[in-house]
Formats: sequence, C-alpha cells, structure tokens
Amino acid sequence: MIYLDYSATTPVDKEVLDTFDKVTNDYIGNPNSLHKLGIEARKLMDASVNQVAELLNVKSSEVIFTSGATESNNLAIYGVINKYPNRGNHIITTKLEHSSVLEAVTYLEKKGYIIDYVKVTKDGQVDLEDLKRLITKDTVLVSICHVNSEVGIKEDINSIGKIVKEYPTTIFHVDGTQAIGKVPVDLEYVDLYSFSSHKFYGLKGCGVLIKKDNIDIDPILHGGKSQTVYRSGTPALGLIVSTAKALRLALDDLNSKYDYVKDLNNKLRNKLKDIEGVIVNSPENSIPHILNISIPGIKPEVMQHALEEEDIYISTKTACSKDNSDSLTLTELGFDHSICGYSLRISLSYKTTEEEINRFVDILKIKIDELSF
Ligand code: PMP
Repeated sequence: MIYLDYSATTPVDKEVLDTFDKVTNDYIGNPNSLHKLGIEARKLMDASVNQVAELLNVKSSEVIFTSGATESNNLAIYGVINKYPNRGNHIITTKLEHSSVLEAVTYLEKKGYIIDYVKVTKDGQVDLEDLKRLITKDTVLVSICHVNSEVGIKEDINSIGKIVKEYPTTIFHVDGTQAIGKVPVDLEYVDLYSFSSHKFYGLKGCGVLIKKDNIDIDPILHGGKSQTVYRSGTPALGLIVSTAKALRLALDDLNSKYDYVKDLNNKLRNKLKDIEGVIVNSPENSIPHILNISIPGIKPEVMQHALEEEDIYISTKTACSKDNSDSLTLTELGFDHSICGYSLRISLSYKTTEEEINRFVDILKIKIDELSF
C-alpha cells in the first residue's frame, strides 16, 4: 500500500496506542471522582495537560481537551459569540477555511452576523491591507486557518495577530489542525488555537482548544466543570494522555522531519513537471506535506479510484468536503473550472519514502494514459 493521504488522517503511532491501552486498562477511575482511583486518574490527566501546555508554551489553564478540531473550532466560534453578544456582530474569516469554520460562520450569518472574507493574494496569503480595511471595533472575531487543508498554504499568524491586537475587543482564533506537528507554532498573538490528535499520529476522537487566560468563552456543552469549565463530560483519560504523547513525539525532531518532507516534495514536484496534463496548484510557499494538483479532463474521483486499484491512496479535495462542487480554495486563488473541478491532494509524511513517490508517479503516468482516451 502507498498511503499519500496523511492530511486526511494519519495512522496511529504504536507508542501512542500502547499508551492509550495502558492508561485505559490501569486507570479505571473517573478523574472527577474523589476516591483514590479518581485522584490517580486526575493526577495523570493534570500531568498530560501540563505537558501539552509546556510543548506549546502556554499555561496549563489554557488547555481544553475536546473531541477533535471540529468541536474545537465550533467551541471557539460559538464560545466567543455567546460570551460577548454586545461586542459587535462582525466576523472576519477567509474562503480558505475548513468546513467546520465556514459552516459555523454561515450559520451565524443566518442569525444576523455580518461575515467578511478577507482577500488573499495570488499565492493565498491573507492580504493584510484588506484585513486592516475590514476590521472595526464591531469585529468580535477573526478566524484564520494556520495551514489550509487543500493546498497547504501557511498564513503568517503573527502578522495577522498583531493587526487584530490593535482592536482590544476583537478575538483572534486560528485553526491549526494542518499545522501542528508539521511546522513550528508560535501562539504569542493568538487567542484561540484548535487542533486534532489524529493529524499527528494520535487517535481519532480527541482534540484541543488552546484558550488564552485573558479572554473568555461560553461553553457549548453545559454540564458542569470537568477537565475544565469550558468542556463538560467525563474526561477521556486514555485519549488525553495519548494526545500529549503524540504531540511530544510529533514535535521531536520537527525541523529534520520538515526538511525530509521538503526534499520529498521537491522531488515529487520535479517528477510531476515531466508529466503532460498535470498542473501543480500548491504555491511554493505551501507546506511541503501537501501538494495539490489538477489533471484537467480526468474527474478526480475517477483518478482516485484508478489509483486505489493499485493500492495507492490520495484525496479529491479534502476528506471533509461534502459535495462534488469546485474547490472553494482553488476558486479563491483565482483558478478556473478546468483546474478547480479537477483537483487532487497528495499528502506526505516523514514516513513517506522516495520509493513510494517514484512508484506513485509511475502509476499516475499509466493511469493518465489509460483515462485520457
Ligand atoms: N480544520 C482543518 C484545517 C482540517 O483539516 C480538519 C480535518 N480535515 C478539521 C479542521 C476537522 O478536524 P476533525 O475532523 O478531526 O474534527
């Protein structure tokens, strides 16, 4: 098998799964129980919260465990909107966001919020001048994806955050799901940061929302204090501890893993240049883990299944897109239908080998020839 869909999800790391197994077997208590088993479970949970905080250079009180980035994004957005109903009715985001942000703000638009999509440059960077033009004292929230999931564009969250900070009542949320464990993350200017464990070899069903202490949110699940007051429900201790482990492992040697993937990406780009009919859509400033291409004339799902016959796995748009319409991200980047309607996402990992890339390219060539007639 050649798995090139690491941005959809990653296989769980064996050490992480062992941790989950051990914690689930050995710590049966509810961390909220006051007896010995509960206290032991609480101690372990607190240690994991501290570890995540330390790894991300935030305070332990700023870590909220959730069920994943979809929940973290919803908690961030609705948490702010519900907490500060009188701060204004204006939200700024981009068209490069994941559906868990786009659909949350679309829902709010129906409730009377004004949503502005800040312009992006040709290579997908948030246009800072446009942001300055749009933001006002009525802007309650700015929500921007750190790394876009379809083409891999990385935003400069420090520069965006500095602009947002000039408006003391505006809160800056960043969806970091495709960034964490792949690129260094600096949260100095960020108020809220979301991510999911399964994107960095952790288990599915766990995520985190970092919420800086200087801002507040309302919970979306009501049920009393648990791991924090912001997220009720019995803490999933096995998932929490294994997320902390997965994060530590993902951040180990981050730079050398990045360089390795960068090198693979360059090799892949060079090989794809030689195949007639393949257009690379990811700008050079995309993270190397994501390479978006189009093969105009061949339907993406047809190519996806043709590759699947050879045990090769890639994505059409992203795993979370719910229809076959043109890619919103590529449309926003100015591509026409011949590109937007035919895009495929190849996503790489430090676990991907050069042999896998070579075989993928060889098979892709054969499939293009077969499907072009
Ligand atoms: N944001 C981004 C950028 C994503 O790529 C994803 C997952 N594809 C999510 C949010 C949602 O993550 P999850 O499905 O783990 O809730």
